[in-house]
Amino acid sequence: MLYDVIIIGAGPAGLTAGIYAKRACLNTLILQDKYSVGSQICNTYEVANYPGFNGVTGQELYDSFKKHADELNVPIVNEKVIEISDADFSIKKIKTADNLYETKTIVYAAGASPKKYGFEGEDHYVGNGVSYCATCDGAFYKNKIVAVIGGGDVAVEDAIFMSRIASKVYLIMRRTEMRATKILQEEVKKLSNVEILYEVQVESIIGDDKVEGALIRRKGDVIPSEVSLDAIFVGIGIVPDTALLKGKVEMDGDYIIANENCATSTKGIYVVGDARKKQLRQVITACADGANAITSIQKYLTENKI
Ligand SMILES: Cc1cc2nc3c(=O)[nH]c(=O)nc-3n(C[C@H](O)[C@H](O)[C@H](O)COP(=O)(O)OP(=O)(O)OC[C@H]3O[C@@H](n4cnc5c(N)ncnc54)[C@H](O)[C@@H]3O)c2cc1C
Repeated sequence: MLYDVIIIGAGPAGLTAGIYAKRACLNTLILQDKYSVGSQICNTYEVANYPGFNGVTGQELYDSFKKHADELNVPIVNEKVIEISDADFSIKKIKTADNLYETKTIVYAAGASPKKYGFEGEDHYVGNGVSYCATCDGAFYKNKIVAVIGGGDVAVEDAIFMSRIASKVYLIMRRTEMRATKILQEEVKKLSNVEILYEVQVESIIGDDKVEGALIRRKGDVIPSEVSLDAIFVGIGIVPDTALLKGKVEMDGDYIIANENCATSTKGIYVVGDARKKQLRQVITACADGANAITSIQKYLTENKI
């Protein structure tokens, strides 16, 4: 079957594109990695800036997007895309482990993944004390000692979240001050069981099969010091999942460049959400991209008579 549009990724951007595409009667398919929770937004316990949904959990907000798409019968197939070929052609090919799909246009909505910190043992201890999602894994550390790495919104929110579960939380950052919004900074500083460590780096994990502590180094220290820990949550940002389009569209670093209508430098390929080069990566801008891309695609299909 030849699709009008295949959307890669079913996060907020991809689902919005799916909803708009279905309502525009385009022959649509969403491909979504089956091993993913669906969206990065599922990793947060509170979304306070999506209009009309003040204070919902990320999972609740995501579920409401998914329900909307399901009610419109937007077809979602749980397969991870492993290759995009014939990107320059009017009919493009998308490969998963099980199938090869053909489509006139692509909406690339693969989003982003958490950035790794780079301390020794990081990969080895994932799932055994190293985590990138306090909302998902925090409950395992009731009355335990944990560290959260980072000084931005995500890390500070995670430290606040973990202060309600763990007995002690270290908030560790390399900088001399936090980058998080003022309201979060004020909140975390009030918490008696959160200790904020500035200008500190985590060097390595201590422990046999699971995290039992870490070696940390304060700026100027000759030798690192040991801190006892049961878990480390890394919250230092994201890396866009754009490898599939490397060399096929114009990019700036790891981000895909697109115009205001989400069109990339390659005809028929659109990028939406966190994978796109833009000022603000949030749910609201991801959804806006999804809507814009489908509007552009309708015009593209009509003008090019594909
Ligand atoms: C901890 C945290 C807290 C946040 N808090 C907020 C907040 O309070 N408010 C806010 O507005 N934003 C928040 N954000 C940002 C928000 O989550 C993102 O901006 C938004 O999810 C981007 O949506 P997206 O659809 O572009 O990508 P994602 O949500 O990343 O979804 C992309 C989807 O594509 C899938 N995918 C990737 N590669 C493939 C492939 N090859 N094949 C098939 N599927 C693939 C992924 O599995 C994923 O399901 C937060 C982010 C994090 C990490």
